[in-house]
Amino acid sequence: MNGKFKPIKLFLLIFLFTVFPSQIRADYIPIASYKIDVRLDVKKKLISGQEKISFLNTSTKDLDTLYLHLFPNAFSSDSTIFVKESGYLKELMKKEEYQGYLKIKTVEDERGEISYKLNETLMSISLPEPLKPGKKIELSCEFELKLPKISFRLGYDEDNFLLCEWFPKMAVLEQDGTWRNFPNHYMTEFFSDFGTYDVSITLPLKYVIDGTGYVTAEKNNPDSTKTVSFHAEKVHDFAWAASPDFKVRKVNIDGVEVVFLFLPGDLYRFPRWVKGVEAVLKYCNSHFGKYPYKKLVVANSSIGLGGAMESPMFITMPPDLPFTPENVRLDEWIIIHELAHQWWYGIVASNEAEEAWLDEGMTTYTTRKIMENEYGIMGNIIDLWGVKISDENLTKLVYSTSAKVDPIVKPSWEFLSVASYGVNVYYKTSLVLDLLENLVGKEKMDSFLKEYYNQFQFKHPKTDDFIKLAEKVTDQNLDGFFRDWFYDTKTCDYEVRKIKSEEKGNSKKDKLYQTTVELRRNGDIIMPVDVLIELENGEKIRQTWDGKEKWYKFKIDTKAKIKSAIVDPENKIVLDLNVNNNALSVKPHRWPVFKFLSDYLFWMESCIQWIVDFF
Ligand SMILES: [Zn+2]
Repeated sequence: MNGKFKPIKLFLLIFLFTVFPSQIRADYIPIASYKIDVRLDVKKKLISGQEKISFLNTSTKDLDTLYLHLFPNAFSSDSTIFVKESGYLKELMKKEEYQGYLKIKTVEDERGEISYKLNETLMSISLPEPLKPGKKIELSCEFELKLPKISFRLGYDEDNFLLCEWFPKMAVLEQDGTWRNFPNHYMTEFFSDFGTYDVSITLPLKYVIDGTGYVTAEKNNPDSTKTVSFHAEKVHDFAWAASPDFKVRKVNIDGVEVVFLFLPGDLYRFPRWVKGVEAVLKYCNSHFGKYPYKKLVVANSSIGLGGAMESPMFITMPPDLPFTPENVRLDEWIIIHELAHQWWYGIVASNEAEEAWLDEGMTTYTTRKIMENEYGIMGNIIDLWGVKISDENLTKLVYSTSAKVDPIVKPSWEFLSVASYGVNVYYKTSLVLDLLENLVGKEKMDSFLKEYYNQFQFKHPKTDDFIKLAEKVTDQNLDGFFRDWFYDTKTCDYEVRKIKSEEKGNSKKDKLYQTTVELRRNGDIIMPVDVLIELENGEKIRQTWDGKEKWYKFKIDTKAKIKSAIVDPENKIVLDLNVNNNALSVKPHRWPVFKFLSDYLFWMESCIQWIVDFF
């Protein structure tokens, strides 16, 4: 144990955090740091070596037990929680090559070996004596990692290696002493504390390797291997890729050295990826705050499913996608999404397992903003042969497939299905954030997100932190808004049910009509709505309804007959579940584009599993 960190310092930090949350960024302290030294055996697909963990007890409780995650054990058999929940991996995992493990050989502190227990993807270490608040412990751990043939996020494919969350890794400890020590479920991602990483990897000379952080040394060994050393600060994972086939391209964008690792055959995607990285750095640096590192790695993965992934300072991109000419911008969408995660996951690092919307929803929202910024509102995803499909069109369509199944805020493993998880955490959240923007105004939304990034970088904000800060910056009570949209499955749907104009009075010269517009509220969520009425003489009349009752009838005197009525004409209620019923004309035409798209809901539903698996 190491007692350099005095409890008084911890007390001061807690005090500062409570009283002046936005002023303490200079007081960043690493909580879980790692010195890792491993050797990669490319033939046996084996990584062996050791790590030294330095962990600081930032809670107010004495700790008897420490918890660690062992993600690679998710692939240890066909009956792990992860594999069983995935469904489709079960058959694959029957083949031995797809199995892998993370075996612990020894765990020691400064006085010698200490005991531990393994439970699939979780490990607990019983401490010989309690770790006091504000105290640090240093542990040495020898381990062996047998890499699975890659099926999802981690492993090898022929000579290519891709690794994230691959070493014994501390779980996050809350201030009140609660551990966030969940096993790896299929629908959970990761949650770790920030720290400093010094990682040395020995591998054959001909391999190209890069990863999180900066290369600090590279030395050739007599046995035709080399040892490459990395250093990274203020990160919460060390991810890396290695292959003898990587083609390296480097570009400096906005002061960041971006390293692209391409597999043969994918090099032609280089200009599109560069453009994607430029778009994200430009947008996120100015809208949220500056990317705090000087380097970023974009590695080409050789698997499609689960091949796009975010890690600190490191993202992976799937191999060549079928049918993606320049005006089908799937490649752009993926690189923008994965890179935007640097802000919402990498730097503002929420609990991806239990409140995944804070990462995935925020990132999906940011992705849409950047797609619109770069490629326009209409047709920013597909703009081909006269067909224009935007990110917003697709998001609304996807949302409508599982809108009433699960609320947004709940642990990932408690969602009904992968589809419901994807719809709510990614797509519904992104629309709720759009709706919030429409409600509070763009300027306030921008200020809020800037402040959120500024206040919570290198921290783990929760849903409550998000809501409290949103209310503070926008100066609005948003309690009801978030309760309805985040914690409930209520939906919103306003409809124009009937329109008519009846002649009034006898004067033939100045005809007068009584025009009636009947509106309906079909959902449970109440929002004030605008209604735009158009008359046959071209006159336009705007009315507002508070939306509270189940129905409402406008009766107004008009000089001409009604032609049409539209509820929410500016489409501010982006979560209106059925936009087909928003407009009604005397001569019927009910938004044919949406009618056409809604026929494809069934097709979309089956695509969702694929979409969620992918990102
Ligand atoms: Zn994502």
